[in-house]
Amino acid sequence: MARRKMIYEGKAKILYEGPEPGTIVQYFKDDATAFNNQKKATLEGKGVLNNRISEFIMIGLMRAGIPTHFIRRLNMREQLVRQVEIIPLEVICRNVAAGSLCTRLGIEEGTALPRSIIEYCYKKDELGDPLVTEDHITAFNWASPQDLDDIIALTVRINDFLTGMFAAVGIQLVDFKLEFGRLYEGDMMRIVLADEISPDSCRLWDIETQEKMDKDRFRRDLGNVTEAYTEVARRLGVIKESGTVTNIEEVMK
Ligand code: 5GP
Repeated sequence: MARRKMIYEGKAKILYEGPEPGTIVQYFKDDATAFNNQKKATLEGKGVLNNRISEFIMIGLMRAGIPTHFIRRLNMREQLVRQVEIIPLEVICRNVAAGSLCTRLGIEEGTALPRSIIEYCYKKDELGDPLVTEDHITAFNWASPQDLDDIIALTVRINDFLTGMFAAVGIQLVDFKLEFGRLYEGDMMRIVLADEISPDSCRLWDIETQEKMDKDRFRRDLGNVTEAYTEVARRLGVIKESGTVTNIEEVMK
């Protein structure tokens, strides 16, 4: 059997050439990084959990009419996705103040925002993914005004869907990061949701206890990172009730 061609290795995922033209295999690693790669660790089972959680969310979004790059999950760590031209932006949507918003504006973490706020960061590791405005995005041609309109409309719909989905299982969606790509089909181009949605890319708090159930547990050395991701998966019904991180491979079958 021939070895697959690796297209790109990121911090938490590897992309391989897919079995058919226009497809890509997205492999979820156990690696965790934070603060622009300054903090690193391997969290056993994280890739398996994120693959499952992201699959569950992408399928839910597609059923709600949101176009995504997702085709199907292939195995414990891999999913087949459509090849898209990634727009070099991290689109952040916030419902509650946390993280860099608090640091930047001096707002107390946990403050409810008067309305959801969308921010954009230019995806450039060397620059630490700086915050940019819509003017930067269109002036430097990272996205056209029409692309941006589509991105905003999709982000608002995704926020509505995810907020409800998580609230139904006792989780508050504080904020999250999305990535979008251009999908070319013949002469047509449309903007679709790409990358992943998982506790690596969302802030998720338990509605009752306000306990953090996301990557902030790793960023802030709070411990029990994989346990928190497992609990998110369990509540969403992605893994069996009895699932624990010690037998993660077993409960994921
Ligand atoms: P903040 O700007 O407060 O650091 O992050 C806002 C939200 O976007 C958080 O949910 C955070 O997890 C997510 N986010 C920001 N940058 C990245 C990134 O480079 N990778 C991932 N996976 N998520 C990010």
